[in-house]
Amino acid sequence: MRLHYSQEMTMSQIPEVLPHDVHNEALISNVHPVDWQNPEPASRYNLVIIGAGTAGLVTAAGAAGLGAKVALVERHLLGGDCLNVGCVPSKCIIRSSRVVADIYEANEFGIRVPEGVEVDFPVVMERMRELRAQISAHDSARRFKDLGVDVFLGEGRFSGPDTVEVGGKTLRFKKAVIATGTKPVHPAIDGIAEAGFLTNETVFSLTKRPRRLAVIGGGPIGCELAQAFRRLGSEVILFHNASHILNREDSDAAEILQQSFVRDGIRLIFNCKTKRVERKNGSKVIQIECGGKSDEIEVDEILAGAGRAPNVEGLNLEAVGVKYDKREGVQVNDHLQTTNPRIYAAGDICLKYKFTHTADATARIVIQNALFLGRKKQSALTIPWCTYTDPEIAHVGMYERDAQEKGIAVDTFIRPLNDVDRAIADGEEEGFVKIHVRKGTDKILGTTIVARHAGEMISEITLAIVGHLGLGTLSRVIHPYPTQAEAIKQAADAYSRTRLTPFIKGLFTRWLAWTR
Ligand SMILES: Cc1cc2nc3c(=O)[nH]c(=O)nc-3n(C[C@H](O)[C@H](O)[C@H](O)COP(=O)(O)OP(=O)(O)OC[C@H]3O[C@@H](n4cnc5c(N)ncnc54)[C@H](O)[C@@H]3O)c2cc1C
Repeated sequence: MRLHYSQEMTMSQIPEVLPHDVHNEALISNVHPVDWQNPEPASRYNLVIIGAGTAGLVTAAGAAGLGAKVALVERHLLGGDCLNVGCVPSKCIIRSSRVVADIYEANEFGIRVPEGVEVDFPVVMERMRELRAQISAHDSARRFKDLGVDVFLGEGRFSGPDTVEVGGKTLRFKKAVIATGTKPVHPAIDGIAEAGFLTNETVFSLTKRPRRLAVIGGGPIGCELAQAFRRLGSEVILFHNASHILNREDSDAAEILQQSFVRDGIRLIFNCKTKRVERKNGSKVIQIECGGKSDEIEVDEILAGAGRAPNVEGLNLEAVGVKYDKREGVQVNDHLQTTNPRIYAAGDICLKYKFTHTADATARIVIQNALFLGRKKQSALTIPWCTYTDPEIAHVGMYERDAQEKGIAVDTFIRPLNDVDRAIADGEEEGFVKIHVRKGTDKILGTTIVARHAGEMISEITLAIVGHLGLGTLSRVIHPYPTQAEAIKQAADAYSRTRLTPFIKGLFTRWLAWTR
């Protein structure tokens, strides 16, 4: 979303969300109402929260619900990245792109689509804007006011040991929370700033499909958007500086996705140096060097999806003794307390795992620790995640390499989806469920699932880990037939079969012979 400010940006100005249409007007009226009047500050707040993305909103709603006096400060749009320029708009266009993929494969299902597929890109983007506006009601300033939260629109900064300043008003706090999130890292490539590039903050404002799109970065954001734009009709080239995309994931999982990308027609360029970008005849020319050879690639747009940087500037953190790093963000202990014990942090600004659900989970910890002398620890969280490509890759717990580093021996149970009836019936046989347990036991250490709806399946494993349920218990769980989640049950059954040692089998055989 391109945020335009008419003059030099002062944060009390109204962000201009492009394009101008009824949906973005509805969005703005929820998350940064034009006629919003900041309230008169209370004499002192239990909590002053800077940043109203997921972390800030969840902290504010939870704390106010428990009776705390809460001030919430937001300089742009309530809802932060997730609602406005992250999860919500990306998942809306991914859904449209999956429809395209399904239509291309319709013949295999006995459905003729004689005229071919025509993607109406402006309508795809309009659908996204309409749904985003609809969802924005959950994060609206008026809703939070009704919940008893004092919402201040403007840039917040610490102005004293127990004060935050916003729009000329001073908010006194007992405790404060930094929930200011991150912004996209601008690639360090010569000429790219002059040539211009898109980030997650601008790509969802497009109304015209780029004919040729270069995506820089093969992490989750780059992969999701590369595949979505390819399926919506752009020619896509994905640059990634490692040997496989999604390099946090196991290579066997990433390999399945790479094959899917290749079938989609995405050109993958690994481990090449992106040297320079220049504008030529209306195009952007990217000069690259691969294995000592130079090449030029011409595109219409470049999308940078190569990392996030914490929003630490302008908060005056030094003055209140909050230590931070310009790359890692605000430093917190296990209780999410910063180096100033009265100030906590939650969400992307302080976390390694930057997800909406971790922003939510850490907000809940902060409420307990900051307001109720709680001692909740972020290290106790079990954090799943999912990259919403096709197929999706979801993970929770340890990878095998993590277990090896810790000297933990594992047994691994893998079920390929081409052995699962429902996946075969759905024509979605690509993928697997891979579960690691502590060797000789059924204690689940970690799981990777590659499947079209892996994000829906991983919660069963997360529940098992959180509830200390072993793989043996999962083998006793009746799964409706036919479902793709039966792959989990099959892996669990494979574990149960390992319990049938030759000795026990011998006993059974003798018993059965005797009772014949
Ligand atoms: C393209 C994309 C897709 C994503 N998809 C997913 C997904 O599918 N699932 C998932 O779990 N996660 C996803 N994420 C990540 C998710 O969006 C973030 O983890 C989440 O938004 C973090 O919430 P937060 O509250 O910590 O920070 P943010 O959402 O960044 O909110 C921080 C807020 O603080 C405000 N702020 C900053 N400084 C100040 C200041 N000085 N004064 C006042 N306000 C300030 C900002 O304006 C912002 O509104 C995606 C991210 C991107 C970019």
